[in-house]
Amino acid sequence: MTIAHISPNLLTSLEQLRIITTQTPILQLSIETQSQSPIFAMLDESLTIPTWMKWKAIPVTLDPYFASAATSRRLTPTVSVPCRRCLHDTVQGQEVILLSYDPFFGDSPYRSRSPIFVHADGCHEYGTAPEDDDTMPLQQRSKLLSIRGFDQQNMMVRAELLEDAKALQMCEEMLMGGGCEYIHIHYARYGCFAVKVERRRAEE
Ligand SMILES: [Zn+2]
Repeated sequence: MTIAHISPNLLTSLEQLRIITTQTPILQLSIETQSQSPIFAMLDESLTIPTWMKWKAIPVTLDPYFASAATSRRLTPTVSVPCRRCLHDTVQGQEVILLSYDPFFGDSPYRSRSPIFVHADGCHEYGTAPEDDDTMPLQQRSKLLSIRGFDQQNMMVRAELLEDAKALQMCEEMLMGGGCEYIHIHYARYGCFAVKVERRRAEE
């Protein structure tokens, strides 16, 4: 038996899908195939990111300024830490870069840098690999998130502290008539920058 997170898209391609328990908002599913043992997956449909919204991780190429000796450390944590490029937590023993990162693209009194971890040996940008599904990344679940909404002038117009589905709903509210052009999400406790959220452009 395996406990795993499975994309709802994958479920449509599998036969002999059997819903054994349904509890709002959690679905517990048993998937049985001829070649595999049953897989039990906990799915929460309320964590599906709407298609019009983009969960935008940091780009693959980092600004060298922010990776300078003064603002970064190359280290091997003894615990798993969250990579902000692929949005997967590291495996214990993997080398990472801890650096001070500026996620803003325009100036305002709110412009600031925040600490982030990234895989030292490189990894893909979130959203570019087949395994990246359309739900809130696991590394951001069950975490108290600081959700900060900014307008076109890069001024913060709303801020909330929420988790999981409520955090996702707040992002929708801020971007849909909430006066926000984009959102920065941070881990509330350590202040690490987690991800940028914005409306998906037509070409994306
Ligand atoms: Zn990574």
